[in-house]
Amino acid sequence: CCNGSKTESFNEKKPTIKFTKLFINGEFVDSVSGKTFETIDPRNGEVIARVAEGDKEDIDLAVKAARAAFDHGPWPRMSGAERAKIMMKFADLIDQNTEELAALDCVDAGKLFSLGKAIDIPDVANTLRYYAGAADKIHGEVLKMSRPLHAYTLLEPIGVVGHIIPWNFPSTMFFVKASPSLAAGCTMIVKPAEQTPLSALYYAHLAKLAGIPDGVLNVVTGFGPTAGAAISSHMDIDKVSFTGSGEVGRQVMKAAAASNLKPVTLELGGKSPLIIFDDADIELASELAIIGILYNKGEVCVASSRVYVQEGIYDELVKKLVEKAKAWTVGDPFDPQVRQGPQVDKVQFEKVLSYIEHGKREGATLLTGGKAIGDKGYYIEPTIFTDVKDDMLILKDEIFGPVMALMKFKTVEEAIKSANNTTYGLAAGILTKNLDVANTVSRSLKAGTIWINCYFAFDHDCPFGGYKMSGFGKDLGLDGLHKYLQVKSVVTPLYNS
Ligand code: ADP
Repeated sequence: CCNGSKTESFNEKKPTIKFTKLFINGEFVDSVSGKTFETIDPRNGEVIARVAEGDKEDIDLAVKAARAAFDHGPWPRMSGAERAKIMMKFADLIDQNTEELAALDCVDAGKLFSLGKAIDIPDVANTLRYYAGAADKIHGEVLKMSRPLHAYTLLEPIGVVGHIIPWNFPSTMFFVKASPSLAAGCTMIVKPAEQTPLSALYYAHLAKLAGIPDGVLNVVTGFGPTAGAAISSHMDIDKVSFTGSGEVGRQVMKAAAASNLKPVTLELGGKSPLIIFDDADIELASELAIIGILYNKGEVCVASSRVYVQEGIYDELVKKLVEKAKAWTVGDPFDPQVRQGPQVDKVQFEKVLSYIEHGKREGATLLTGGKAIGDKGYYIEPTIFTDVKDDMLILKDEIFGPVMALMKFKTVEEAIKSANNTTYGLAAGILTKNLDVANTVSRSLKAGTIWINCYFAFDHDCPFGGYKMSGFGKDLGLDGLHKYLQVKSVVTPLYNS
C-alpha cells in the first residue's frame, strides 16, 4: 500500500475500557468534584471513554495517601530484595497483558499496535526488572575523613514524588519514572497526560494485583493547569519529575520554587540533528533518517528533525529519502501493514499543519508531503523540506510531527556549528565510517545522547536527558535511580576521649 491510501482489511483489536477512575490509596475512586473528561480516539475524533477529572482536592488526597505510605507504610522499610520481588511480579503481570495495554495506547494515542505489543510494552516490563535488580544494591559509602572521625553516607529515598508525564509514550514514560522511584523506596503520584489516561489506570490495577502496598503508587488523571499544577506547587511533595514541553517545564520549576523548593528534573523538547557524512552507508543513512523523523509520527522528543547531509552524497540521499517517505504507509495504527498512525489529537494535528504552512511561506522547498490525509482522524503525510535557512521557524521549533528539515553542508566544522545552532540539546546522530570524525563530532555536540551509526538506540542502562534547554536530570540508568535518592552524611568521633 502507498502513502495516502489507508488500508482497510485487518482485524481490529478493540480494547475494553475497564478503568476510568482515579487510583488513590489502592482504590479506584471518582474525583471529588465528580467531574469527568472525554478521551478521544485520534483515528476518528470519537470519544473512547469518559475519565475522572482529578483536580487539586484529588491531588491532596493522593498526596496524603502517599505521605502516609512513605512515613508509616511498609514500602520504604522493606528490604530492597522484597521490593524487587513485588516489582518482578508487576513486570510479569504486564507481560501477561501486553495486547490489552498496546491496544489502549493505540486507541488513545494513535500508536502502532504491532510495535506496542512487540516492543513498547515488553520493554516497560523490562525497565521494571532492570530497576528491581538495583533495589537491593542501593548503598552509601564509607568516607575517608581528614580528622579522627568515622563517617559514611546513607542513600535514602527522597520521599513522595510527583511524576508528570506526556502523551507520546504513555507506557514508556510511566515506567521510566515509576520504576526507579519504586526501587528507591519512594511513594508517588503519577499524572498521565490528559490525551492518554487509559494505560496508566490499567497499570495502577496491575500494581495492586502485584502487591504494591496501598498509597505507594497513585494515579490521578486530569489536566495540566489543574491536576498537574497542584503537583508542582504542593507543599508536601518532595520531588517532581516532569517530561513535556519547555514552556510547561518552566512553569513546573517556578511553582516548585515558589512552594516548598522541591527539586525538579525536566526532560523537555528537542530539535535533534542527524549528521550524515559522505562516507556513510547511504542505504543505512536513508533508513535511519526516515525512521528518525517518522517513527511514532514524529511525536518523539529525540526525533531527527534536522538532517544535515554532506554535499558529496546529498543528491543521491535526497532521492532515497523522498522515495522512502512516499512509500511510508500511513493509516489505522491497528493495521500491521501501517507504519504511521494519526497525530495524538486535533491540537497537535493543527499545530503540525501550521508549521508546514509556515515552512512553505518562509520559502523552504517542499520535497514531498505537506498535507493532511483524508477527512477523518488526524493523519498527516510524511513531509520533507529542503533549502531550510537558520532563521526559519521550521528549523528552530520542535514541530513534534512527521516533518523533516534537510540541509546540505561541506565541512566537519560547518556541520558541528549548524548542529549546535539550537536552544535544544537532547540527542544527535552521526553517520560516518571515519573514527576521527565520529570522535571529534561526538565530543563537540552539545547534546545528552549521541548515536554514532545508529539512531534511537535506547537501553535501560543508558542515562537519557538533555543539555541546554532540553532540560536537566537523567532518566534511565543508575543516574535515573539516583534522582529519587538523597544522600545523608553520618559522622561520629572515632575515639571518645
Ligand atoms: P505537550 O506540549 O507535549 O502536550 P505539555 O508540556 O503540555 O506537553 O504536557 C506534559 C504534561 O504536563 C501533561 O501531563 C500535562 O497535563 C502537564 N501539564 C500541562 N500544563 C501543566 C502545568 N501548568 N503544570 C503542571 N503540569 C502541566
